[in-house]
Amino acid sequence: AGCCGGDNMAAWLHGVDDLRVEPHPAEVDKPLGPNDVRVRVGAVGICGSDVHYLKHMRCADFVVKQPMVIGHEAAGVVVEVGSAVRGLACGDPVALEPGVPCRLCEHCKTGSYNLCEKMEFHATPPVHGSLARFVTHPSDFCYKIPDGMSLEEGAMCEPVSVGVHACRRAGIAPGQKVAILGAGPIGLLSMMVARAFGAAVVVVTDVSDERLKVAIELGADVAVNVKGLSPAEAADKVVGDGGRRPDACVDCCGFESSVATALAAAKSGGKVCLVGMGHIIMSLPITASAAREVDLVGVFRYRDAYPTAIHLVGSGAIDVQPLITHRFSLATNFTSDTINEGFKVSAGGGDAIKVMFDL
Ligand code: NAD
Ligand code: ZN
Repeated sequence: AGCCGGDNMAAWLHGVDDLRVEPHPAEVDKPLGPNDVRVRVGAVGICGSDVHYLKHMRCADFVVKQPMVIGHEAAGVVVEVGSAVRGLACGDPVALEPGVPCRLCEHCKTGSYNLCEKMEFHATPPVHGSLARFVTHPSDFCYKIPDGMSLEEGAMCEPVSVGVHACRRAGIAPGQKVAILGAGPIGLLSMMVARAFGAAVVVVTDVSDERLKVAIELGADVAVNVKGLSPAEAADKVVGDGGRRPDACVDCCGFESSVATALAAAKSGGKVCLVGMGHIIMSLPITASAAREVDLVGVFRYRDAYPTAIHLVGSGAIDVQPLITHRFSLATNFTSDTINEGFKVSAGGGDAIKVMFDL
């Protein structure tokens, strides 16, 4: 259709374990707004929430009621620019920030646009996602990536941005000791961002030795397997023999035991940063928060984080390549089989960290 040449194929979520590649003509047929760009998508990573939608057709309060295009970690090349767009041209490689806020509400006007209640976020129903040949997106949410940075690395800027926002909210600064609880993609990237922000000592916890091995390979100083440990025992290991408590604990799994560990381990006056979203109701040693002035800070996605994420990845301060454990090419073969194979690997646990589709 039009400038984009050929059908716009996309990965549609129809039901539990039902993903199909079908045309998505609206995305290329709709007229380009003056501030929009059309992007030929080149790389899309799969996130835990995409898998969650595939398995449950919902994530928290968001329910998939109509078939929805999945995917929200994307980068591509600009193929068409709206009449008012400045600073982007056809051929530019861009990372797509997937959430577009209303720009009018109090949160938007005060800069906390990630809290906008009218946020339209890729693959959060009813908004279609970006696992498609082409997407149309506001130009100010498309960030040019530098020469030498791949589109896969551009797509990785989405979870890196979560890490950037988490480390900002946790107040991470040079010389600090930081604990990261949970060594999934979010924990590992938060760990790398913490390092880039100057953390001197990084302790990572998980219940999987394989994940902890990766954490050490990526630069963690100490890995603690907390399987079978009480939160108090786990906190003792996080603090370690030297007795230095973390300035900040970043929870990247969202379980009662890990948040309890974080609260018990953090130094007085330190921070516990909640990134993980798992247990909704938790029983926690919350007195630490009052009696020791441990501040609890929440993290919801990110704001103003893409430029920093792109700088960290583009400058080589963070190497995201080792996290991309599996790749599936849709370039000549955008088929349901390939999409389902990729999601199967991502959902299967095992050694998969980040599954990437190359389009
Ligand atoms: P993941 O499931 O791949 O990683 C979680 C890791 O935690 C796993 O390696 C698991 O083995 C480990 N784990 C399980 N129990 C543990 C425990 N008691 N202590 C320590 N580690 C434990 O998930 P992910 O993709 O890395 O995402 C991490 C969390 O962050 C998820 O809860 C996700 O929903 C959340 N998330 C939040 C935001 C946000 O905006 N706040 C954004 C993205 C992801
Ligand atoms: Zn708003």
